[in-house]
This record gives sequence, C-alpha cells and structure tokens, in this order.
Amino acid sequence: MTLQAQSLPVLRERGQREVFCGLTGVVWLHRKLQDAFFLIVGSRTCAHLLQSAAGVMIFAEPRFATAILQERDLSGHADVDEELDRIVKKLLGRRPDIKTLFLVGSCPSEVIKLDLARTARRLGEVHRGVRVLSYSGSGIETTFTQGEDACLESLVSQMPAANGRAPLVVVGALPDVVEDQFARLFEAMGIEAAFFPGRSAAALPPCGPATKFVLAQPFLTQTARALELRGATRVAAPFPFGLEGTREWLAAVAKTFGVSADRFRSAVAAPEARSAAALRRSHDRLSGKRIFFFPDSQLEVPLARFLSRELGMQLVEVGTPYLHQEHLAAELAMLPAGTRLAEGQDVDRQLDRCRAERPDLVVCGLGLANPLERDGVTTKWSIELLFSPIHGYEQAGDLAELFVRPLNRKSSLEV
Ligand code: SF4
Repeated sequence: MTLQAQSLPVLRERGQREVFCGLTGVVWLHRKLQDAFFLIVGSRTCAHLLQSAAGVMIFAEPRFATAILQERDLSGHADVDEELDRIVKKLLGRRPDIKTLFLVGSCPSEVIKLDLARTARRLGEVHRGVRVLSYSGSGIETTFTQGEDACLESLVSQMPAANGRAPLVVVGALPDVVEDQFARLFEAMGIEAAFFPGRSAAALPPCGPATKFVLAQPFLTQTARALELRGATRVAAPFPFGLEGTREWLAAVAKTFGVSADRFRSAVAAPEARSAAALRRSHDRLSGKRIFFFPDSQLEVPLARFLSRELGMQLVEVGTPYLHQEHLAAELAMLPAGTRLAEGQDVDRQLDRCRAERPDLVVCGLGLANPLERDGVTTKWSIELLFSPIHGYEQAGDLAELFVRPLNRKSSLEV
C-alpha cells in the first residue's frame, strides 16, 4: 500500500480545555510495570483522581500512592524534601519488591517549585539498588496520555547501550495479552522484538544507532525524540488499530527488517481472517453513523481512520489535543478527503459545533459526557480506550464493539 500525504484543513483552537491530566497514566502504567512504584507528590485532588480512576485495589499491595502535601507544606513552611525522604524510606523498607520508583509531579505551586529530578537523584544515591526517576503528570503541563510519554521519556536515559545488532523496540505500554500476540507475530516473521515498557521497569531493552523502534501509541512524542537522540530510528507506520492499521504497522516493520512477502503473508493470514470475521459483526451497526471526537487521548486520528475505513462511519469532526504531523502522516493520508480536524480546544465553541451537527455518537472525556447525554447525545468515554486492550488483529472486533455499545444502550432506552 502506498500512502500519499494529503493536506487536510486543521482548525487550531487555544481556549479552555476539558482534558484529564497526565496523572491518569499511572492507572495503566502501574499495571504494566510490575516492579515499579509511582509516588505522586500532590494534593488531595490528585489522590482522589487516582483513587476514582483506578478503583480500590483489595487484592494486592498497591503500586501507586499519593504523598499528600498538607497545607503547611503547600505554604512552604515545611521542608518537603525531608518529608519525601521519610515517606520513601518507609515505603522502600516495607516493599523490597520495588525496583524502580517514579516520583510524579503535579499541579500545586509548591510541587512545581520542587526540583523533583534532583530529589530523585539524591534518593537514588541513598537507596542503592532502587532506580529513582521523576516526571511530571501535572495538569498544567500535560494532558491525559502525556503522562505515559513523560514516564517513558524518563526511562529512555536508563536503557543500556546497544552494541552491534539490536532488537526492534515496540514503544508504548501494551496490555500483556497484546504484547504476547505481537511477540508471536514478530517471531513468526523472524524479527527479534523487545517491548518498551515490558513487564519489568528494571529490564530495559538496549538502545543505540542500530536500534529501530516502532510506536504502538500515537502520543509518545517526547519518548520518540529521546530515542532518536540516542541514535535510534523510528519505523514510520500507521498505528495498530483495526485490521488494516495492524497490517500496515506490521508491514512497515517487516519491510524494514527485510521479511519476504510470503513469510509476512503466512504470519498474518490466520489472525487477519479472525479479525475480518469479528469486524463484520459490528459493520452494519456502525456503517453510515456520524461520529464526533472531542480532543482527549490523542488516539482520535487513528481511531477515526479505523472507524471510517473499516466500519463505514462518517467523521463529523476529529478533535485531538495535539496533531503530530510527522508521527501521524500515514494516518492522515488514510483519512477521507475533507475530514475536519481540530487541534487543541475551545470547549464552548466545540460544544456549539457538536450540538449543531447532532452526531450519532460523540467520543469525549468524562466531564463532557454527562452534559451531552442530558442533551440527548450518545457518548463514548475516551478513557475506556486506554483501559481496554484495543491494539492488534485479535482486539479489532472488541474495539469496534466499544463504539457499538453506546448506540445499543441508546436504542434499548428508547424502546
Ligand atoms: S489536574 Fe493537577 S491537581 Fe488536579 S489531579 Fe491533576 S495533577 Fe492533581
């Protein structure tokens, strides 16, 4: 398949936005990185967000917590560093399983004033054997999925140097089941692949000029840049959502690694057949339906491509917090001509456009869903797209089903 770049009109908005902050990423990152701990340095609001987004874990020792700065700390009357030292010492003393500790910054001004990178270096020297890193999940600096980008960027500096041959690095936190499926596909093609992050933050793949990496998520701009600064080369590809996206993603890697057409076809034939059958189940329900994306997860452009090309949906507006023209080039080339793209947000104006268009389905954050539902608009929460396995051939049917469900719910309520 040859993709031609196309120039689509982009509405750029810089007004009030309704997007989760980067702390949300802790919810899926702590599930992936099984030997890491995320210590959020924040306020009660941050603790509430994490607790309600992740749910209460009653079955295991949690792998995240919030060091809540009290009024006294926030007003600068206490030594926050001393307080953090005390908390970290207690935590690591009780939990020898923690091999990597992330200090995650947040919004309060006293936290912003803290030099968390310095604190992390100091704590790393005190607690030998534990890698202590820091990044910001603050809502002032990051949206929803940028927390993962910041976390992975902090890990890039820890990757060992690649000497000589290096495996393909698949970049982006994937559920274990998806990682295993992709690992089998790469193995069938004879490609040695490593996943970043894998299940252990302590075991990182090597990186160097021989490294080729492919992004599995469209929101990893800073991570990609950090990898490139270490000499690695990005394999340009669309993202592995839906049958077509997965095929093109794998094909781009296969081409880079010189896999023969026969070997590629034999590796993907069976999962493609299953994927096509699963997608047929949702096609009639979604075909012709009009969909509107509010900017939230940065998954909007690849999902819009999948829904329009594989399921026949009509794109009313595709909003995204950031439009990375280079990383999204293959995706943009596959969108229908004339697709209305919006980058950034001016939430009131966007709500006006949405209400005027009366789409069949709106993809948005939780904060906008309730008011829109009250107006009779059917919504899909974008956060579910991060909490569910949606990549690859085997998940294509489930991904389509996520968009069918709210339409079915609406129909059943109307009966
Ligand atoms: S927006 Fe800021 S204060 Fe609110 S939860 Fe996120 S980091 Fe904490």
